[in-house]
Amino acid sequence: MHSKLCGHAVGEIGEYVERGIALGLDAIGFSFHLPIRIPVDYKINVTREELDFLATEIERLRAKYAGRIPILFGGEADYLPGNEKEVEALAAAYPFDYLISAVHFVGDWAFDHPAAAPDFDRWDLRKLYEAYFGLVREAIRTGLFDVVGHVDLIKKFGHRLEGDWSDIVAELCAEMRRGDVAMEINTAGFDKPVGEQYASEEIVGGAFAAGVPILFGSDAHAPEQVGRYFDRAIALARSVGYTSYACYARQRRRLLPI
Ligand SMILES: [Zn+2]
Ligand SMILES: [Zn+2]
Repeated sequence: MHSKLCGHAVGEIGEYVERGIALGLDAIGFSFHLPIRIPVDYKINVTREELDFLATEIERLRAKYAGRIPILFGGEADYLPGNEKEVEALAAAYPFDYLISAVHFVGDWAFDHPAAAPDFDRWDLRKLYEAYFGLVREAIRTGLFDVVGHVDLIKKFGHRLEGDWSDIVAELCAEMRRGDVAMEINTAGFDKPVGEQYASEEIVGGAFAAGVPILFGSDAHAPEQVGRYFDRAIALARSVGYTSYACYARQRRRLLPI
């Protein structure tokens, strides 16, 4: 879940929690876009001051909703080559339950921004996928992250790599296993041009075969998006063999039955 402080989401975080309770979720986790320096000047990430406020807000809501739903305090951190120290400093400064790695930039190109779509034409798609997944693997290798977020976000606008790209998938899954991270099945993609969850069926199958745990994320930027399409995500996870999903507290993982 996000919050209106990211600048591109709406609703009070308490409204997200209320929605989670109404849906009967086991827990709800907020993973604000952390204050990481990024090579664009529009507002995506929260500031340090906003994060301080949100951390306090999470504490307040935990007390308010105690016994009704566990509320997790996570963070989504942009991975850019060389920003490990920045991520590390944030991880040390806040009591995060989990940290999600997010690749939103190839070089300084914000490929997931709606204005970016025409720039896809400049790439050979295979080379772009190699560059993108190379960054995803680099992020895992930093050892700073618990969860790989929206792992194949590069397909957001429908730029699917046709043909056999099982080598890229195999490398990715092996890296996730080596890095002992969980992979998010992110249902926001159903509402994007690509029209499916992040982590394609092929990747979810590869992750299961490699022994990588999963968890479910609705990447909600509005209260009514909490838990969106979880029925589909759960059906997919079950279809490849998953019977459990990961949940984090203070960056320790446990597995819960789906
Ligand atoms: Zn966002
Ligand atoms: Zn993201």
